[in-house]
Amino acid sequence: MEQMYAYKCTKCGKLHHPRYIVCQNPDCDGREFEQIPLEGKCKLLTWTRVYNLPEGYMMPWLNFGIVEFENGVRATGQIGFDDGIKSGMELVSSVGVIRTKVIKYKETVEEPVYGFVFQKA
Ligand SMILES: [Zn+2]
Repeated sequence: MEQMYAYKCTKCGKLHHPRYIVCQNPDCDGREFEQIPLEGKCKLLTWTRVYNLPEGYMMPWLNFGIVEFENGVRATGQIGFDDGIKSGMELVSSVGVIRTKVIKYKETVEEPVYGFVFQKA
C-alpha cells in the first residue's frame, strides 16, 4: 500500500505538500521535515473534468479536484466518481493507482502511478 505524506518542518511546524527543500515559511529556513501521513477526511475546494487526457490514461475523461485536509494541507487528486460532485462537499482520501505508465523500450513495461483518489464521505 502506497502512502502520501505531508512534510512538517521540524523547526517551525509548517506543513507542506508536496515536499520542498527549504521550508516555505518566510520567517524560517528549516530544511528538515517529518513525514505525516496525508489521508482521510477532506473538503473539496474546486474541481474540473478533463477530456483530453495525456497518454497512459485509458478512459474518456477524469475528474480532478483540489481538496483541503483537516490539517489545512491542500492537495490535488482524482475524484473517483462522476455523479453529484459539488465544491464544498466532504470527501475521503485514499491512495490508489491513478494511471498506468507505459514504458516502451526493448520490451513494453507497464508501471502503476499512485496518487490521491477522493471518494464520497
Ligand atoms: Zn519551517
